[in-house]
Amino acid sequence: MSMCPKCGSPDTVGFTLNPGANLLRLTHCRGCENRWWVDGRTTVALHDVLATISAA
Ligand SMILES: [Zn+2]
Repeated sequence: MSMCPKCGSPDTVGFTLNPGANLLRLTHCRGCENRWWVDGRTTVALHDVLATISAA
């Protein structure tokens, strides 16, 4: 699990997706409802992830 970059809460839930060669992880903070994606070690914006999924 990772800490929320918005509120710093460790109470997060992760969902791993693998639409292609890239391992994507959607993380949801139960503290502040923030959501973000992690591609490997990099946090990515949602529109970049959607572009990756449509290209797969
Ligand atoms: Zn949060």
